[in-house]
Amino acid sequence: MFRECHKVRVQLYDTLSRCVNTLEPYGEKFGFYCCGPTVYNFAHIGNFRTFLAADLLCRVLKLAGYNPFYVRNITDVDDKTIAGAQQNGIPLQEFTGHWKNAFRADCHTLGLLQPNCEPSAVEHMDGQMALVQALIEKNFAYIRDGSVYFDVSTWKNYGRLSRLKERELRQVAEISPDKKAVEDFALWKAHKPADGTVFWDSPFGRGRPGWHVECSAMALKYLGNNFGVHGGGIDLLFPHHENEIAQSEAATGQPFTRHWFHVAHLCVNGEKMSKSLGNLYTLADIKQMGYSPMELRYTLLAGHYRQPLNFTMESLHASRKALARLARFGRWLRELAGIDVLMAAEFRSFTSAWDALCDDLNVPEALGRMFAHVHQRESDPPTSAQAAEELAEWQRLLFALGIRPEAEEIPAEIDQLARARSAARKEKNFAKADALRRQVEDFGWTVEDTADGYNLHKKR
Ligand code: AMP
Ligand code: ZN
Repeated sequence: MFRECHKVRVQLYDTLSRCVNTLEPYGEKFGFYCCGPTVYNFAHIGNFRTFLAADLLCRVLKLAGYNPFYVRNITDVDDKTIAGAQQNGIPLQEFTGHWKNAFRADCHTLGLLQPNCEPSAVEHMDGQMALVQALIEKNFAYIRDGSVYFDVSTWKNYGRLSRLKERELRQVAEISPDKKAVEDFALWKAHKPADGTVFWDSPFGRGRPGWHVECSAMALKYLGNNFGVHGGGIDLLFPHHENEIAQSEAATGQPFTRHWFHVAHLCVNGEKMSKSLGNLYTLADIKQMGYSPMELRYTLLAGHYRQPLNFTMESLHASRKALARLARFGRWLRELAGIDVLMAAEFRSFTSAWDALCDDLNVPEALGRMFAHVHQRESDPPTSAQAAEELAEWQRLLFALGIRPEAEEIPAEIDQLARARSAARKEKNFAKADALRRQVEDFGWTVEDTADGYNLHKKR
């Protein structure tokens, strides 16, 4: 792992206070929960905009020495997953297992860090039932016809996150004849014929949990009652996150998360990219158009996460050029410095791009500073010692952004050998790993271990 970068603390916009706040480290680990995908189809690149922003935050927290513990859940029981399993005539878990694997493969291809924990709703039924039970016992929830609802009138801060007024809350809430008040929301849904064989027996009857409960139950289980950051796409602000606050705080009597992190939408022609609008692209679509996962990653990260990002082919093309320029500069620094010097170099900032990343994840500003530095160096080349120091910073910035500009130039057989070596290391089969490293070197490449895996470099 890289050394801690600066003693700069990370600043992040908090949706609850509507301010950019400093993230205060606490305890040994810094808990970070991001609402994950609903697994009934391929995730689209709008979903990946959110997961990439979460990945960026996690990388910046790692480099800044916060020791993040990153949880991203899998929603594997809801109307869509149940309908998908039924249409395909297979059990729910077989259906969701397939899409969970597809999601993980895309995450890997896009270079997303593996979360420390990836819990699913189906795997956490007991925890969800216990949470619902606690809310009933504390009179925050009531049972109607086998369903359990959170009684919003008992929670005076309801609407604080989304800042919706009482009347607006009523307008957007789901209507159901069973609820005492229209803004009350389901914690447990009584079994209905359309759910077929998907149900669990609980103390309040046969059924399944409401969607909001899963994130509260899993966040509380893995991160404790009060943790660092909770995030997701901006569409989750209401009702999902509003409901999570109410039910979690009502159950524990403690503040839930310290910080709310929301990512603006990826749009096409000004409209949110979504399955229901039919204006989506998957990673496979992008590859078919001839663009690489790295070019997509760069495109989705290059805009500020709080601003909607309009997706165009031109932006992918611009990313290709930008990555090529970054790759050229990195290669040049490496030539001047030599690989061995890189590993020994201390961190110093030349570009101040790191400060921009620590200031509310300002990627456009960070990239601007990196390119300004590249430009400046063209007329003022560094000495070998300077190149070594700059390379150390460069590598850290590329790690923070998860960018490997040269990744596409690696021949498939070299990549395969390096992957096999990485797997052997994980299994602690060091003899095999060493043999594979020698094979990589025989092809004229070197493999360098990093925090998120490895980098391959052509020997010079
Ligand atoms: P879902 O699989 O629908 O539960 O969504 C997974 C994540 O993607 C959630 O955090 C959503 O808020 C987010 N998301 C959905 N559509 C978009 C979009 N067009 N742009 C950015 N994030 C999105
Ligand atoms: Zn959630």
